[in-house]
Amino acid sequence: MVYRTSMPAPESRVPENRRGRAVGTFCLECGSVYPLHRARHVGKPVYGRDHIAAPCAHEGDRFEPGEGWWESAVEVLPAPAETSEPEPATA
Ligand SMILES: [Zn+2]
Repeated sequence: MVYRTSMPAPESRVPENRRGRAVGTFCLECGSVYPLHRARHVGKPVYGRDHIAAPCAHEGDRFEPGEGWWESAVEVLPAPAETSEPEPATA
C-alpha cells in the first residue's frame, strides 16, 4: 500500500494557501491520523507512531464535532514557488 510521503497536518496548523484535501481525522492528543470514514479513535491509524508507550487518552472515543481534541487532517501542499518574500518564521 502506498501513502504519500508527507504526513497530513491538523487544518488549523497549515497556512490556508498550503491546505490540500482533507484525508482523515487528526488526533491532537497522540498525533495519529485516522481515515475519514472512521468515526472513532480505534484501530490502526493511517499515520502515527508505530510504538506508543501508553494508549491515547481518547482511544475508543468518537470524533464528535465540537470536541477540541481532534481536527481535520489535510494534505500539506508545497510552498508556492514564486514567493519572493521570505516566509515568516513559524512559532
Ligand atoms: Zn489519540
